[in-house]
Amino acid sequence: MTSPRIEIDLAKIEYNTRALVTLLSGRGIDVTGVTKATLGSPEVAKAMIAGGVSRLGDSRLENLEALRHAGIQTPLTLLRSPTPDQAERAVACASLSQVSELDVVKALSAAAGRRGVIHGLVLMVELGDLREGVMPGDVLDVGHRISLTPHVTLAGLGTNLACRAGVVPSAGNMGELSALATLIKARLGLQLPLVSGGNSANLAWALAAPAGRINDLRLGESILLGCDPLTRIPLSGLYTDAFTLVVPVIESLAKPTAPRGATGEAAFGIPTQTGERGTIIQTLAAIGRQDVDPDGLAPPQGVSVLAASSDHLVLETQHRLAPGTEIRFGLDYSALLRAMTSPFVTTTFATTTRQPAFPASSPSIGSLPSAPPFANRTPAAL
Ligand SMILES: *Cc1c(COP(=O)(O)O)cnc(C)c1O
Repeated sequence: MTSPRIEIDLAKIEYNTRALVTLLSGRGIDVTGVTKATLGSPEVAKAMIAGGVSRLGDSRLENLEALRHAGIQTPLTLLRSPTPDQAERAVACASLSQVSELDVVKALSAAAGRRGVIHGLVLMVELGDLREGVMPGDVLDVGHRISLTPHVTLAGLGTNLACRAGVVPSAGNMGELSALATLIKARLGLQLPLVSGGNSANLAWALAAPAGRINDLRLGESILLGCDPLTRIPLSGLYTDAFTLVVPVIESLAKPTAPRGATGEAAFGIPTQTGERGTIIQTLAAIGRQDVDPDGLAPPQGVSVLAASSDHLVLETQHRLAPGTEIRFGLDYSALLRAMTSPFVTTTFATTTRQPAFPASSPSIGSLPSAPPFANRTPAAL
């Protein structure tokens, strides 16, 4: 088998999906399965569908088109606003688009009209994380304008937190979104079928507080990696190892730890000096920053990541490893996203675990951190 490659265990993704769908359905919340970290993989999408998601979502049109071309019939949501130029393609492959600009609404309206369809819009609301969405005070006006626009329907409201500024989903901001949905009903007479509260970072909120009007969460990381993005703590009862990055060794030699010669900046800025520890076994693996975020790799026992340049991952190992030896790494979200996007990393699907052994406990409210240690946001512990 060629490497570097990502091995994907679809049975684990299906299991994680079903566990989260079941848990949230008890709260009246549906799951939109988000595929973007897998470059819109139809296989991963099918595992999510088998696990019970109501819809699939992706931020990239190309990924949604890949799902459609693979014959997937599940309703699709475009999670990042299209440009006006992309309206045609958005309307052709998605049933819902998340939007925040009236120019985009107009373009989608025109495209839907030409196609003879009604396109659903989810108006995104800015609730503090300072990424996409109209300000709360403008929701009524923009909602009203959308309701007067032909060929589109205001299908719902949505918000996204914890992605740019790290704002935590809470009873406060989720209550605000619910109240806005109620306001739209009271003032515009529109019963919104969809109120989408956010992403995987909303799980702790969803399991601790009443959901109000929120009836959808868009889940990627929690399904794929089984962890809570607010803390990167594994969600107990979920698999955290559905993805494995397998990389071949190309050199493994005894070398000093300290560089020799005057030093300046390295290829990616000022290198962190590892200190003088004598001679170690330095092993190079054939992957680099072009293909993966080296900070997001979890090496196996006895292996540590020392550095990475464009094409080389510099490791310390306990023994010399023959060229071609494969080393297996766990990945965090950032590493997964980049590795799935690299044309130099192939993807294979594990078939050995169609019936995964159940993790020790099934996910439960008590097993999720109800008060995540936000002050202590250590990087992914895998
Ligand atoms: C990526 C994305 C999601 C999913 O986020 P996860 O943290 O992976 O669950 C949800 N909504 C939007 C708008 C996104 O871009």
